[in-house]
Amino acid sequence: LRQRVPTRGERDELGRLALTFNEMLGSLESAWKSQQRFVGDASHELRAPLTVMRGNLELLRRHPHLGPDERDAMIAEIERETSRMTRLVEDLLLLARSDAGSTLTRTPVDLRAPLLEALRDARTLARHHHLALDAPPGPLTVLGERDRLRQLLLILLDNALKYSPDGSTVRVQVLREAGQITVLIHDEGDGIPESALPHIFERFYRADAARQRDTGGTGLGLAIAAWIATQLGARIAVHETGPGGTTFGLTFSPLPAPQTQDPERTPVL
Ligand code: ADP
Repeated sequence: LRQRVPTRGERDELGRLALTFNEMLGSLESAWKSQQRFVGDASHELRAPLTVMRGNLELLRRHPHLGPDERDAMIAEIERETSRMTRLVEDLLLLARSDAGSTLTRTPVDLRAPLLEALRDARTLARHHHLALDAPPGPLTVLGERDRLRQLLLILLDNALKYSPDGSTVRVQVLREAGQITVLIHDEGDGIPESALPHIFERFYRADAARQRDTGGTGLGLAIAAWIATQLGARIAVHETGPGGTTFGLTFSPLPAPQTQDPERTPVL
């Protein structure tokens, strides 16, 4: 890939062809590099839980007479790392499928159902937080797949919980304006540092504070959320962030107007 076709200036057809060819080589090279980086990062992330698991298993084998508390703590750690690896593998599979061109179907769905499911899932994670929902009455129809919508909402809720202190409130607000539906997820955490903002949707990116707190995250959540949102024609963005907290917004495009039949083309029965 490093070799380029020698160009002889753009003027003649052969020269332009060589330039186009070189441009194609350039984009192939950068796609190849980003795939290599993805595989490298994924292997690194998979190795960490494996190391912990192997270490604990070896200790358990070498010290058969450990006290029951110590044994239980080590087994619990192995279980935690196993679930972390399972989550990681599922996330990697989804991203690999997205790279391979997998697409989501867009059918009308009432957002309320996946939203309530995601909130129920979040409630099991949010033992020390308050969760609040503010949504207008009536159906909230958007285009998407119910399970993926739930996954997308849960990623944002899970982050809001992970990055805000115990005892604080995570608020979900749904707005319906001119046929457009927006979901706002607001937390009372420390906010996202400005230097981190351009990177949060990148695969494996985690701001330093997140790494240090070891929230169990993998840095893939927002990359997956962004892929699902794009597939569903929705926009995902940080609406506000600072010491008072962060607000993520998901905006769904209005549904296409119902097809009115052209009277001229209505078949005569
Ligand atoms: P992670 O698994 O680390 O949560 P994500 O891709 O979901 O990975 O998020 C990327 C990074 O963005 C996080 O590591 C964290 O630094 C930052 N982040 C995401 N959501 C929030 C939030 N609500 N408040 C503060 N920081 C956040």
